[in-house]
Amino acid sequence: MVGHLPIGGDHLISVQTMTKTKTDDVAATLRQIHAAQDAGVDVVRVAVPDKAAAQALPEILRQSRVPLIADIHYAHGLALDALDAGMHCVRLNPGNVKLDLMQKIVDRAHQLGRAIRIGINAGSIEPRKGLQVNKDMELEMADLMVDTAVEWCERFESWGFRNFKVSLKSSDPLTTIYTNRRFARLTDVPLHMGVTEAGTLEASTVKSCVGLGTLLSEGIGDTIRISITGNPVDEVRIGLDLLASLRLRKKNVDIVSCPSCGRDEVDGGVEVLARAVEEAMKGYKGNITVSVLGCIVNGPGEAGQADFGIVGAKDAGYLYKGEKLLCRVPNDKLVAALMKEIAIEEARRKADKSVAALA
Ligand code: SF4
Repeated sequence: MVGHLPIGGDHLISVQTMTKTKTDDVAATLRQIHAAQDAGVDVVRVAVPDKAAAQALPEILRQSRVPLIADIHYAHGLALDALDAGMHCVRLNPGNVKLDLMQKIVDRAHQLGRAIRIGINAGSIEPRKGLQVNKDMELEMADLMVDTAVEWCERFESWGFRNFKVSLKSSDPLTTIYTNRRFARLTDVPLHMGVTEAGTLEASTVKSCVGLGTLLSEGIGDTIRISITGNPVDEVRIGLDLLASLRLRKKNVDIVSCPSCGRDEVDGGVEVLARAVEEAMKGYKGNITVSVLGCIVNGPGEAGQADFGIVGAKDAGYLYKGEKLLCRVPNDKLVAALMKEIAIEEARRKADKSVAALA
């Protein structure tokens, strides 16, 4: 459990992100946490590199609706401060905390009912003596990461502590797949998964979806973070999209749009229309699928699979509700017409619910 959020077993796979602000800048940090919350994040991690950051934690916790994790390196005192401040979990790299100090942190977490993430990173694993720097080293290092993680799990359990999860992070998707697969075969400890230092939006999306998507499709992984050099909201958005595409989570708004081609009849192309629909649907809380097509070729069929569909055509496009054609509307009024129909449908669903509650 991280705060109120269960992680592991049959529980929903959660999506994490990390703030990129100076944590002692409380207003800026909360802005990122709130934006991530609005995007659907389940849990947020903040860096705690110094005392000023640790002192900011109580106020940040007070204003966060999601559980928070403190990211600590080296300074065991900051881990204790974070736990005392009320942080729901601390993430530690056991490679840089002394054994007796680690036990102190574990005891405090146990006493306060908090969680710990054992964060094993490829970059902070010491190669075994005599290991040659060659292709075999890559494999041996990956095995060493897993062995180190298993040793720490056993140590935590021998200290009577069970509320922990593990991450095995590398910037290489294939190493990520190898280490997490091997760890999952050896234990049932919950796994936090991510490809670290994965790059900017495009590079990270590809690497993370290859690495994490492969593992998730095999039933491995309990919580994920898409590491992007960029906005935390993108990390949340891509994480949720990845889980939705594997049917591990349901997106409340699913916009299905065609890739466009020479038949596209939307002014400026169907991409303009799809982006306008995305913009109009931002913040929508209900469950809905909308299809956006550039021409009539696949339009009615695709619209039939969705709750609503709009299809571009010369001068005036088509608006569908399921398979039913509702009307033809000038292309520049299609999005407004769609939103009006969605509002009518929402009001109808609400009324049905009220009637059902009275029955
Ligand atoms: S729906 Fe029409 S415009 Fe879109 S890709 Fe298919 S044929 Fe092309």
